[in-house]
Amino acid sequence: MAVTLDIARGNANAQTVSGIPVTAPAPAPASAADDRPTLIGLTRDELADAMGEIGVPEKQRRMRAAQLWHWLYVRGVSDFALMTNIAKDLRQQLDARFTIARPEIVSEQISVDGTRKWLFRFPPRGAGRPVEIETVYIPEEGRGTLCVSSQVGCTLTCTFCHTGTQKLVRNLTAEEILSQILMARDRLGDFPDAATPQGAVVPSEGRLVSNIVMMGMGEPLYNFENVKKALLIASDGDGLSLSKRRITLSTSGVVPEIARAGAEIGCMLAISLHAVNDDLRDVLVPINRKWRIRDLLDACRAYPGLSNAKRITFEYVMLKGVNDSDADARELVRLLKGIPAKINLIPFNPWPGSDYECSDWERIEQFADIVNRAGYASPIRTPRGRDIFAACGQLKSASERMRKKDREAVAAGA
Ligand code: SF4
Repeated sequence: MAVTLDIARGNANAQTVSGIPVTAPAPAPASAADDRPTLIGLTRDELADAMGEIGVPEKQRRMRAAQLWHWLYVRGVSDFALMTNIAKDLRQQLDARFTIARPEIVSEQISVDGTRKWLFRFPPRGAGRPVEIETVYIPEEGRGTLCVSSQVGCTLTCTFCHTGTQKLVRNLTAEEILSQILMARDRLGDFPDAATPQGAVVPSEGRLVSNIVMMGMGEPLYNFENVKKALLIASDGDGLSLSKRRITLSTSGVVPEIARAGAEIGCMLAISLHAVNDDLRDVLVPINRKWRIRDLLDACRAYPGLSNAKRITFEYVMLKGVNDSDADARELVRLLKGIPAKINLIPFNPWPGSDYECSDWERIEQFADIVNRAGYASPIRTPRGRDIFAACGQLKSASERMRKKDREAVAAGA
């Protein structure tokens, strides 16, 4: 059974919803009519330039940018009025010209296992109507992982993935990618001076959001610049300060961008492999028709900084009678020879309308045994948040891109 907290429709400041206390009120969301540019997602230099736009003298801009950076990413404020070491008139100028508001939360669902799934709404930005995306928080012993989306929908129609049935609406901006992290930390009380909601399932020590995986909706390497910008801000040591070792970018196999991701972002890499021969992978992960398994694995071998301490994770969804035989397991071991790798076996998470079934548990264990005996760690990922459709491959929002004709009609009426 899932718990749904409908906190944006009706009562955005609800303190108690469905019997679950919410200690932190939802921050005021950006209004749809607000066309002030955001300061979230800007580099330090861009922040300094923004200070110039409101008349801050050049010699003060870097200092002001550093102050803003601290308030935005260390203290997590979403209101200029709280930036107490900035003079009141400057705060008012900032507020008149820019915004740092959070997106709207359409819903927050909590699974029986403590997994949380949020549906966030962002402005259209060319899509014709506001867009919605999903973000998932998975608490475990010793860590809290946030599964972040990079696109609204996806162009890649991986046949086992629910998101793949939703056409691409648009790329998320760097602000929107970062906002998912900021919102999760807001809702979990993971900023200084914030309280964690009573009853929330979170790690017993350490940071509540300690790991980021770019495994939500979308193919992150098809939105390279925005993903890069957001992840470099997320890993900045003076801000959100997430270790690059704890940020994993998962790709379905956009081969030409893999080396760039290693060189320019420097995060951990995961590959959605799911098949050990091109014929089957062409069906399961159709991008394979463009970049074959051999090219993909060559790009993995060349991934910068690869070592036994920095391994590539290969994701392998277990589909009954499709890719789960002993021969498949042996071929997987053969293919990955020489690559420092970890293999994540993912029991298939069903969704309405999918034709696949999850492999039987004994089959998954036998497959894992073969991989383990070859020396690879091959954890079987415990399905999380299945009851709220938050598990791997289950994310999908209702956002659809309006037809050009309809967008023009809306624009004409605005
Ligand atoms: S698995 Fe990833 S790349 Fe494939 S359709 Fe789903 S979201 Fe897109």
